[in-house]
Amino acid sequence: MSQRQNRVDLHLHSTASDGLFTPSEVVRLALERGLSVIALTDHDTLDGVAEARQAAVGTGLEVIAGVEVNSEGDWGDLHFLGYYVDPENGPLRERLQAMRDARVGRARQMVERLREMGMPMEWEEVRALAGGGSVGRPHVGRALLNRGYVKTLQEAFDCFIGNDGPAYVPRLRLTPPEVIQTIIGAGGVPVIAHPIHSGLAAVERLPEFVGYGLRGVEVYYPHHSPEEIEMLLGLCREYGLLCTGGSDFHGPGIKEGASLGSVHVPWECVERLRLEVNYSFMGVIQELKMEHG
Ligand code: AMP
Ligand code: FE
Ligand code: FE
Ligand code: ZN
Repeated sequence: MSQRQNRVDLHLHSTASDGLFTPSEVVRLALERGLSVIALTDHDTLDGVAEARQAAVGTGLEVIAGVEVNSEGDWGDLHFLGYYVDPENGPLRERLQAMRDARVGRARQMVERLREMGMPMEWEEVRALAGGGSVGRPHVGRALLNRGYVKTLQEAFDCFIGNDGPAYVPRLRLTPPEVIQTIIGAGGVPVIAHPIHSGLAAVERLPEFVGYGLRGVEVYYPHHSPEEIEMLLGLCREYGLLCTGGSDFHGPGIKEGASLGSVHVPWECVERLRLEVNYSFMGVIQELKMEHG
């Protein structure tokens, strides 16, 4: 197998959410780095997928339709990735739209809090930074940066909009089973994202999530130690889960995640993911056959 066939990155963000590169630029960078399979996994949106796929036409690069969806609440802040979802699936589109609408209200509330804290700024500034995409805290953080209220994006998170920050407002709360079932309903494969970073619940409650239909774990991720990777691989074996991985690239100069293509993801991950999709598809055909005799 050539080096090129081995290059995979299954966790990438673009300007469709809080990344700095457009979907076309993400594809161009992936091609420059010799990748052969990528998944665009923007927060609460599939809007970047069509452009990325268009940019990849004729290049041999596969762009998997992906999405990253959060679930909050008693479970902690857990993130799930959905792979090979149908971007046209109605219930998925509706749910993601609701999540994005809630993100707007929540970002406006954060702007309000910052204003009350003596940092006046306009919601329009944040909206412009999001450029019509899924609005997130990084856009609020960049507005703080532009206004000179902080010196770095990190400082914005550390002092104001981090999970425990004084201007933090939570997102719409979906439960893990709701997220998992929405992904499955759209023909996708649900995978838990960066479980080490999401705290103990992500690992301890894995069997419960498997019960809801979870199919995989993001094992390969920036800064996962060899021991952590081994531990997660062990859990995958125990529960019959597939493993995925990626850089969580958000753009140059952004500390969250790592550089595109910089995390080693074994080719077997892609093969198993593809098999999973085919199995699910065959399952649907089987059900249809039984229904119609
Ligand atoms: P949100 O989904 O709007 O709550 O924003 C979460 C996003 O903020 C993550 O997906 C990261 O892209 C970004 N983020 C989280 N923590 C930090 C941090 N400490 N510094 C920079 N970006 C961060
Ligand atoms: Fe992000
Ligand atoms: Fe995440
Ligand atoms: Zn991510």
